[in-house]
Amino acid sequence: MTSGTIHRNALAAKFRSFLGAESVLDDAEELKPYECDGLTAYRQTPLLVVLPETIEQVQRVLRVCSDHQVPVVARGAGTGLSGGALPLADGVLLVLAKFNSILSVDTANRTARVQPGVRNLAISEAVDAYGLYYAPDPSSQIACSIGGNVAENAGGLHCLKYGLTVHNILALEVLTMDGERLTIGAQSLDAAGYDLLALLTGSEGLLAIIVEITVRLLPKPECARVLLAAFDDVGAAGTAVGRIIAEGIIPAGLEMMDNAAVRAAEDFVHAGYPTDAAAILLCELDGIDSEVADRVAQVAALLEDCHATEVRVARDDEERALFWAGRKAAFPAVGPPVPGLLLHGWHHPAPGAAQGSDAYRRALGGIWIAGGQCLSRRVTATSIPSFFTMPTGTARWRESKSWARRFWSCAWRSAAPSPGSTAWESRKSIRCAHSSRPPSSITFTRSNPRSTCTGFSTPARPCPR
Ligand SMILES: Cc1cc2nc3c(=O)[nH]c(=O)nc-3n(C[C@H](O)[C@H](O)[C@H](O)COP(=O)(O)OP(=O)(O)OC[C@H]3O[C@@H](n4cnc5c(N)ncnc54)[C@H](O)[C@@H]3O)c2cc1C
Repeated sequence: MTSGTIHRNALAAKFRSFLGAESVLDDAEELKPYECDGLTAYRQTPLLVVLPETIEQVQRVLRVCSDHQVPVVARGAGTGLSGGALPLADGVLLVLAKFNSILSVDTANRTARVQPGVRNLAISEAVDAYGLYYAPDPSSQIACSIGGNVAENAGGLHCLKYGLTVHNILALEVLTMDGERLTIGAQSLDAAGYDLLALLTGSEGLLAIIVEITVRLLPKPECARVLLAAFDDVGAAGTAVGRIIAEGIIPAGLEMMDNAAVRAAEDFVHAGYPTDAAAILLCELDGIDSEVADRVAQVAALLEDCHATEVRVARDDEERALFWAGRKAAFPAVGPPVPGLLLHGWHHPAPGAAQGSDAYRRALGGIWIAGGQCLSRRVTATSIPSFFTMPTGTARWRESKSWARRFWSCAWRSAAPSPGSTAWESRKSIRCAHSSRPPSSITFTRSNPRSTCTGFSTPARPCPR
């Protein structure tokens, strides 16, 4: 097989000369695990996989590829759901997994320099002893890499209050596709010049290879408490979200699950969720002890006013972790009963949390996440992504497809458009929802039976109008 101007065997031999034999994979069996990322519906065996461990080696890989016009796709941990790390048949898959060191921790300036292959959670674990942590916490944080987080502008539970990846990094060391090394940003806030850091963040590996990241660290809050509220109506839970935000309270985390998601998560994790509730809302408040105590009382009163049938405050940190563990496991939890899943997501303004509630009636399970998650670069308390899982390969799935087309069109019209590329958008085609034609750009994909969730396409580009 040939790519660009060079035969595969010759390319492999070139790489082996400076990477060593074990860091260049060209055997079909060795390449197999790299044929997809978390978007398992799309698979492609790469021409070669390389696993460099120094920046100089990455530079040499890029120069060789540039000289021979061989495309390069970067890969971190491969948990991405957008197919960003999907290989190309004639391209090299550049795996950054060996870049897994925390290079330095600066407690005075609350920063850490880390290599791109470091796992998200490993950063917080490494600085825990200093009373610090790294705030963005995608549900995949035990596995996903910080390099992948930057490339996807990943978000998570705590992003409502503390921002997405783009708000929690200061500088990047990157290599351009011909191997030139650049420093983007600075070790302090507000670097001079264009904001290339924001441009690189969320660029899905298309602009440069990230080889070092300076992350911001935050002091661990003195106290964090989580409330669990049950509702007998999803719309009422959505209204409560809007009320909390309107009250001027920015929780550290605010997420909602419908009954199907609650039951699946409860079976999976035994988090103590009320399985008869139509929806539950988890609301985490953090800060200093006295402030949190006041806020908990205020939110509890507000939830009751919104007709919560039950309001519980986690007794201790263990129960708090358990409440969130259920939510974080919700997608894997809905996986086992069905052969495959469709994961459908979109953004809508806070009042739309209730409006979007209609979707759950058709779905296998719905989750609403306040705070932007990875759908948008903006963190806005009024923009709430929701995710609905639907069984695939069944009559219900086929029905869901046509329903989702109609619903998407309406939902998107009322939504705040995301300002740029998102982790969740389709690589196939994107079309503005204002088009009068049916959104044929939406693709629905059937997942591999092993997967817990699968790809979907949802429009994410700003409307040109
Ligand atoms: C169960 C589950 C839960 C998830 N929960 C969340 C969530 O809560 N929030 C969220 O935002 N996402 C979530 N994700 C998606 C995914 O974990 C994130 O997008 C994560 O940032 C991907 O990191 P990764 O290391 O796996 O990157 P990969 O999947 O390997 O790559 C992702 C993209 O980054 C690029 N890339 C990777 N490393 C580099 C590098 N060093 N330089 C340049 N480009 C690079 C790749 O080319 C690709 O485009 C979840 C995924 C799963 C499976």
